[in-house]
Amino acid sequence: MKILIAADMEGISGVVHWDQVSTNHPEYTRFRRIMTADVNAAIRGAFEGGADEVVVTDGHAYGRNILVEELDPRARLNSGSLSPFTMVQGVDNAVQGVIFVGYHARIGSQNAILEHTWSDERVANLWINGEPYGEIGLNAAVSGHFGVPVIMISGDQTACAEAAALLGPLETAVVKQASGRMAAECLPPPVAQSKIQAAAASSVTRLRSGQAPKPLRLAAPITLTVDLVQSEMADKAAWMPGTSRQGRRVEYTAQDMLTVYAAFRTILALARG
Ligand SMILES: [Zn+2]
Repeated sequence: MKILIAADMEGISGVVHWDQVSTNHPEYTRFRRIMTADVNAAIRGAFEGGADEVVVTDGHAYGRNILVEELDPRARLNSGSLSPFTMVQGVDNAVQGVIFVGYHARIGSQNAILEHTWSDERVANLWINGEPYGEIGLNAAVSGHFGVPVIMISGDQTACAEAAALLGPLETAVVKQASGRMAAECLPPPVAQSKIQAAAASSVTRLRSGQAPKPLRLAAPITLTVDLVQSEMADKAAWMPGTSRQGRRVEYTAQDMLTVYAAFRTILALARG
């Protein structure tokens, strides 16, 4: 049984501020160590639950946050960017379950630490088939394309609730209770990591006994709508053939999630340029 642990940083134990997840700030060195420890807790849990193989993907910013020298030696690490599937790099038909560690809620969520969807600078909002989607939904849908369910998430209470509402009853490890965008009551990392380990173990045990949530398979056609932060970004993004545009909103429809995901990344790349 092969498990992919997809890690982000905003939902890591103790994180409440951008400084803690930004490489140019002194606090970052502490929190990348805590991120590594949260991931190690999930690795321990996955093996305890019966995984044979665990691959970790570092999905925050440029994918160079997890300390490889401190990673549980039983796992392997997808590090660096750009990779084809970024935050869920490594997902394919051989993976049987995905675990999200350190995830955050979609943009516009209330009481959600550092909520955003992919890029604060470029994405004002995002929908798939008319439903609001964040990184949880996007990465779950890419995994679902390969028939792989998301079986567990760690993060604040709002990220965990978003995942449960979209994906069904997955295992959750709430490591902090957010009371704003940059304020939360946090569990100390060792306590949070016990919860992560227990949730990961239980998620893999459930997966092995056929009790895991179903993969998020989106029915075709799939329509992506991105509300860009500035009109100029939409001017550029709408150069992409096949898009339609209304104001700052750029829309694209395809028959499968991987094409939609590629379109999303292309729209954001154009918006940046
Ligand atoms: Zn991140």
